[in-house]
Amino acid sequence: MSITHHPNDELLAEFSSGRLDGGKRLVLAVHISACRRCGRFVSAMEAIGGQTLEASVDVSVAPGAFERTFEAASDERGRQYAIRPPEDVEDGPLPVLIRRHRIGKRRRIAPGVSVRPILLPYETESRVFLLRSAPGTRMLEHTHSGSELTCVLQGSFAHAGGHFLSGDFDYGDGGVDHAPVVGDGDICICLVAMSGDLRPNGWLGKLIAPFVRI
Ligand SMILES: [Zn+2]
Repeated sequence: MSITHHPNDELLAEFSSGRLDGGKRLVLAVHISACRRCGRFVSAMEAIGGQTLEASVDVSVAPGAFERTFEAASDERGRQYAIRPPEDVEDGPLPVLIRRHRIGKRRRIAPGVSVRPILLPYETESRVFLLRSAPGTRMLEHTHSGSELTCVLQGSFAHAGGHFLSGDFDYGDGGVDHAPVVGDGDICICLVAMSGDLRPNGWLGKLIAPFVRI
């Protein structure tokens, strides 16, 4: 797994301190469980702050939690990593951090796009869901009134901010105006924590906004 997009230091610090909203924390935890770079950063923050991941949440990250849910392979240095992401969120494997929660019914929100809520057992400011998009799907150009944290579990998408593959993390907020396009090949499955509303741009987006509301 080659991860190139990471949460910024401020988000990782908030995660380490346990201050982050529960929904966003889950998305970060899933990324961190797959990302050595961020895992090291968080461990260092904890060493400084005297906190532990276990203390920060019920979505605590055991090292390798993400990988253990998939078949493991070895890279050129013999390290173990995940090679088989979920094929379908209904019957395929998901990271254990997600599987430990109840997952709600799938709801279609646009052609080729559906969501399933993650039903967290505590109040969160953000809504957390699995977003499933067919290969080649062009999402509406949109902005956010709040923020949107995304971790790719399978497949890929791209927008002006880059190309995002399995394990990559993406952050969007009101300052980001983007129109993601799902890569060809695999169905794209992302874990998303969204606060505020998604605001489609353009006349078409505004017209169908009530129907794509997540
Ligand atoms: Zn990372």
